[in-house]
Amino acid sequence: MRLTFYGVRGSCPCSGPSYATFGGATSCVLLETDTGTPIIFDAGTGMRALGTDLQPRLHERGIPLHARVLLTHLHYDHLLGLPFFSPLEDPGAVVEIYGPRQGETSLADLINGAVTPPFFPVQMTEFAGDVRLVEVADEDFATEDATVTSRWVPHTDPTLGYRVESGGVSVAYVPDHQAPLDRLTISDGVRDLCQGVDVLIHDAQYDDEEFARRSDWGHSTVAYAVRVALEAGVRQLVLFHHDPAHDDERILALEEAARQIPGADGLELIVAAREGMTLDVGAMT
Ligand SMILES: [Zn+2]
Ligand SMILES: [Zn+2]
Repeated sequence: MRLTFYGVRGSCPCSGPSYATFGGATSCVLLETDTGTPIIFDAGTGMRALGTDLQPRLHERGIPLHARVLLTHLHYDHLLGLPFFSPLEDPGAVVEIYGPRQGETSLADLINGAVTPPFFPVQMTEFAGDVRLVEVADEDFATEDATVTSRWVPHTDPTLGYRVESGGVSVAYVPDHQAPLDRLTISDGVRDLCQGVDVLIHDAQYDDEEFARRSDWGHSTVAYAVRVALEAGVRQLVLFHHDPAHDDERILALEEAARQIPGADGLELIVAAREGMTLDVGAMT
């Protein structure tokens, strides 16, 4: 299994020399298994670069894309890249988008209502490729060579996290996660997702002082991400959903602070996600 990080930022894209190391595109991670179709975690602005990477390879092979997008929720930073995903322009492309409905409103109505004039020049249905929308909640489902677990995660609107297992290895993706005020307890859903995974990609938007000022904004601290990883017996932790107010220097400091937390040396790896980073996830030897 291989992970490639196309967007690692939370909330709002950002750019400029002070973001050169970690990047400014929002949440989008490619997961490739040995034989199955690609899985894409979220459709943030990083999805544009993912499409730019994939499309020439697909054209060379003469095969339109078949991919699955696992959307955690509908906040802009997780959706804005979707209409800029160039493989959708190819006839025959099939993109299955899994995600949660929001209260009374269906996933289809939400996405079709977001990608439509006057917010975007064309409608979702006008792309040559076929977009299939699949509502998911608390459930488990299978792809060609992977099993996917979706569970509700505390945030500010109905939000899922995902766990994908394939070929004996597992990844959990929890990019937006409201830490509890005590920053000690862990919800049952998050435990289900994270227990014993090889790689956990987790919200690490704030430090403790920022959390004190924004304790109901829907996010976690770096220290809480480490806590979840240790409690769940995770092998490798990827700090994710960086705050747009954090430049490279600040994220490097947060990454180092995470490694200094007592017990953190029990993890095989703690790394702050960088745009363009790849992780080959092998079974424990
Ligand atoms: Zn977000
Ligand atoms: Zn969010």
